[in-house]
Amino acid sequence: MDNNRLDFSGRKVLVTAGAAGIGLAIASAFKDLGASVFVTDINPDAVQAARDAGFAAAVSDVSNEAQVVELAATVRSELGGLDVLINNAGIAGPTGPIETLDSEAWKSTFDVNVHGQFYCIKHLLPLLREGSDPSIINLSSAAGRLGMAGRSAYSASKWAVIGLTKTLAIELGDERIRVNAICPGAVNGPRIEAVIEAKAEMLGRPLTEVSDLYHRQSSLNRLVEAGDIADMAIFLASSMARSINGQAMAVDGNTEKLY
Ligand code: NAD
Repeated sequence: MDNNRLDFSGRKVLVTAGAAGIGLAIASAFKDLGASVFVTDINPDAVQAARDAGFAAAVSDVSNEAQVVELAATVRSELGGLDVLINNAGIAGPTGPIETLDSEAWKSTFDVNVHGQFYCIKHLLPLLREGSDPSIINLSSAAGRLGMAGRSAYSASKWAVIGLTKTLAIELGDERIRVNAICPGAVNGPRIEAVIEAKAEMLGRPLTEVSDLYHRQSSLNRLVEAGDIADMAIFLASSMARSINGQAMAVDGNTEKLY
């Protein structure tokens, strides 16, 4: 095996929502392998922290098309091109039975999780076309291949990400731009804790009981780590995955039911 296939020196990577959580783990993994990494986030404090950690970074809201247009220009001038786009930004959306969900909260879930990926792909594609071995990686979820009671907006948005991924894999295949998705299970961190709290409140069940269900929903009986998602992103962006296109890669310890 050629170990240089994990050398990302000279390769240019953009990670949306890359200043915290899973995005930061992905950005750090690419940086450690030699890539030039640009991160964006809606949160200015997180962007400043990313700059302090040595990343090129800009404040940008993926759900705002004008800001994404501006981001594409910034990436062109500051990163000098783009080889890998990681569409990581995504919000949890509202929790509750469907008739109780706030319509604006439903729409904003799609604005970030689906329209945000559309804007980023649309406006960064010209840069990717000029890149070397270009690929796009879209963050979906285990909720993008399974139903998730009480999280209809999130689950529907993450199924949409799979449809977008599979369609673009075909549209862009001739140009040798690969498009894949990653479907993480419940990832250890503050976000899943907030999700578990909201679910316990919805069900009127003790937090510890719902937390235990989340931990045991994977056959490995544990949560996934952000680094596990980063490992999959590295693999998909590398030449080892040169024939992998249009796939939704589960990184969830084998999760067959979501609570
Ligand atoms: P997170 O909630 O920890 O958020 C990470 C960052 O996203 C934050 O810094 C936040 O400021 C930024 N962000 C929020 N809205 C934004 C916007 N409109 N534009 C730009 N940045 C924005 O997220 P996470 O848990 O790291 O999840 C990352 C991705 O993985 C998401 O797409 C999420 O749906 C998916 N995912 C997460 C889990 C999990 O258990 N955490 C499981 C499956 C899938």
